[in-house]
Amino acid sequence: MVFSPNNVVACAGGSATRLEPRPEQSPDFGELLLRLRVVGLCGTDLYKLSAGNEQPGSVLGHEVVGDVLSLGKGVQHFAVGDRIVVPHHVSCGDCSFCQKGNETMCEVFRENLIAPGGFADTMVIGDRAVTSAAYILSGEISDKAAVFLEPAACVLRSIRRSGIGSGDLVVIQGAGPMGLLHLLVLRAEMPETRVIIIDPVSERRVFAEKLGAHEVLTPGKANLLAQNINADAVFDTVGGSVVMGSSIELTRHGGTVVLFAHASNEEHAKIDLNSVFKFERRIVGTYSGALAEQSAIFNLIKCGRLDPSLLVTHTMPLDDFEKGVSLVHNRKALKVLFTPSKASLGSL
Ligand SMILES: [Zn+2]
Ligand SMILES: [Zn+2]
Repeated sequence: MVFSPNNVVACAGGSATRLEPRPEQSPDFGELLLRLRVVGLCGTDLYKLSAGNEQPGSVLGHEVVGDVLSLGKGVQHFAVGDRIVVPHHVSCGDCSFCQKGNETMCEVFRENLIAPGGFADTMVIGDRAVTSAAYILSGEISDKAAVFLEPAACVLRSIRRSGIGSGDLVVIQGAGPMGLLHLLVLRAEMPETRVIIIDPVSERRVFAEKLGAHEVLTPGKANLLAQNINADAVFDTVGGSVVMGSSIELTRHGGTVVLFAHASNEEHAKIDLNSVFKFERRIVGTYSGALAEQSAIFNLIKCGRLDPSLLVTHTMPLDDFEKGVSLVHNRKALKVLFTPSKASLGSL
């Protein structure tokens, strides 16, 4: 079967993108060629686009579900037609970072194993991802739920790095897709946790309550301090100095703030050092998700305890990429998924 034309959403300088045809690749030894089913638009993609530093011609996107179109030599355990989900980053498993549990700091971890990227009708999956990180999806798992494997694994790593225990009180700063995904993964993995979510947008607070938040609050120092919250952990999915300051204040003595948000290279936070030193608070960074978190998330989705598809508000073809970006940018959408380009569907 030949799918043509084969389109990608290519970066086109600054924050611009354009849909353009590319020749279809063929998989090398150990690789798979995948035909896109859905790809998620992630905060990282948005961050990279708005920073505007991407090389023209490069292709973003890394939350991918697709069908196997062809196999490179030596590939085992997969067959043409398998529906799979696969992350783009895989650690080596052997180096000192991997051995010490900092797998996402591994030297090879940041290599992108989805080429040219996920915003494409077809893509090649690198051999390390094929061997250790790709999952075949059985009938009961929807594309819409499976596409969250990678972002939910990032969230699970964040939760594990917070060190919280059953029954703890946590605060999530931000009820965007990643804040709400923290809520859903907490509810699936540690259902005894009590969760407070803070967000300025009232529809998002209402939705957070529907998804099981115990309490929702609006940001604002006076308001938050009056609540006397004393959280065991605060997850900052918003970022910036102000939110970091308030996250520290919302944490109990001995509690943990987890930073789960992008910052520009020049961005520094001013924090009250004694609030860390004298009160034994920890500020912890978390980056991406490793194989252990991916496998735990796959099992949670598979058994139905985690259903992140609730966060999908829009699905549209790659042709409408810029529309999807602007919906998320203007907070008119939570999670946007893209399906293959119209032209490639027309050729089926
Ligand atoms: Zn992502
Ligand atoms: Zn390693």
